[in-house]
Amino acid sequence: MSNQGYKTFKGGIHPPYNKELASGKAITPAPIPSELVIPLNQHIGAPNNPLVSPGDRVKVGQKIGETDAFVSAPVHSSVAGTVKAVEDIKNFTGAMVKSVIITADSDQPPFEAKEMKPLADLSADEIKQIAKEAGLTGMGGAAFPTHVKLSPPKDKPVDSVLINACECEPFLTCDHRLMLERPVDLVEGLKLLMRAVDAEKGVIGIEANKMDAVEKVRSAVSAEPSIEVEILDVKYPEGSEKQLIAAVTGRKVPPGKLPSEVGCLVQNVGTAIALYEAASTGKPLYERVLTVTGHAIKNPSNFLVKVGTPISVLIEAAGGLADNATKLIMGGPMTGWAQEEPTANVVKGTSGILALPPDLVDVREEHGCVRCTKCVEACPMYLMPNYIVDAVQKEDWAKAELWGAIDCFECGVCSYTCPAYIPHVSYVRKAKAQIAALKKR
Ligand code: SF4
Ligand code: SF4
Repeated sequence: MSNQGYKTFKGGIHPPYNKELASGKAITPAPIPSELVIPLNQHIGAPNNPLVSPGDRVKVGQKIGETDAFVSAPVHSSVAGTVKAVEDIKNFTGAMVKSVIITADSDQPPFEAKEMKPLADLSADEIKQIAKEAGLTGMGGAAFPTHVKLSPPKDKPVDSVLINACECEPFLTCDHRLMLERPVDLVEGLKLLMRAVDAEKGVIGIEANKMDAVEKVRSAVSAEPSIEVEILDVKYPEGSEKQLIAAVTGRKVPPGKLPSEVGCLVQNVGTAIALYEAASTGKPLYERVLTVTGHAIKNPSNFLVKVGTPISVLIEAAGGLADNATKLIMGGPMTGWAQEEPTANVVKGTSGILALPPDLVDVREEHGCVRCTKCVEACPMYLMPNYIVDAVQKEDWAKAELWGAIDCFECGVCSYTCPAYIPHVSYVRKAKAQIAALKKR
């Protein structure tokens, strides 16, 4: 979709969105599998230690992994059942992660809501503590622990909390459905986020291809003078932190700095609703809404899914794969992870499962750079992706860092625009790993 005159950022692309496959599908509970694999580390930060052993009985919402480190988020059981094993299991990125395997009981009781303080009486510190206890993390993909984000440096006061309600990644529709079905819970979550950081203003940024959500959320904030809904241009990656801040406030987060540097905090729709649930009932983050979609999924759907559910169960629940399914991705097409087999398990940051037929899979081979600078013009971080690739090809890690490999947030825009089909993000990931390894020495 072309520029529509709404607020936006500089750079970016307009890929086919394909949202219509699932945007009209109401959220329904996914089947509970007989066995779940819950990784102990689903966040950015220190690893958790297991709190359970094989043979232990667990309840829905029981904490099963934790550490004392501040930058971390505990993990909870998503079902009632028995711990079968605690062992290293390959996750969706291919990394081996210590995981708790749980055999689910055939009868699943609902989560027992806890007696909580009235929301209006919660202090900033209490809200942060609730977020920590509930294991809240960013649910848009990055999985940064929420309580850490809610604790900016004392000399960097936050005046604005922005909700990333753009859902700019093609195909995905789970945030759209949450806004249509739970707009009041979203606003309550935003109010808690604002109180946690003492921000005077809240903004919910929604792309212009979700006007039905704009209407619902506007109605939910009609009695909230400090919260507004901002309609944003339909452009990828409108919802990434720095681009959303630039679009909504005009402020620029300097390279290598966090949003608090410019007085902002960004959270996504799912995280705000999860905070509201945790504060009102004590419910930890053990289930989430995600989209199972793509032209090679028979019945695209939005499901409420228990963390630890194998993605094969969700594909089956969405009617199964079409015969021509060629590529399976965990997440969206721009930032997701390709899967060779449907063996991975859902984590807190899983926003979707995508199955594509051959005509939507790019199998063209990488060529040499033709110096067209299309990647430079489109990069929303104002980087020179072509130079980063060149440095990586020469294994010149200092140059790769100089050209900003660390500031790249792997949005995939450069690869999308590149006529030479260069997979820039793969090069950037390599550069980041090498730079980090060199700094450790
Ligand atoms: S260099 Fe990084 S931030 Fe820039 S377009 Fe490419 S993937 Fe996105
Ligand atoms: S878009 Fe591709 S071919 Fe063009 S300058 Fe960038 S890397 Fe080179």
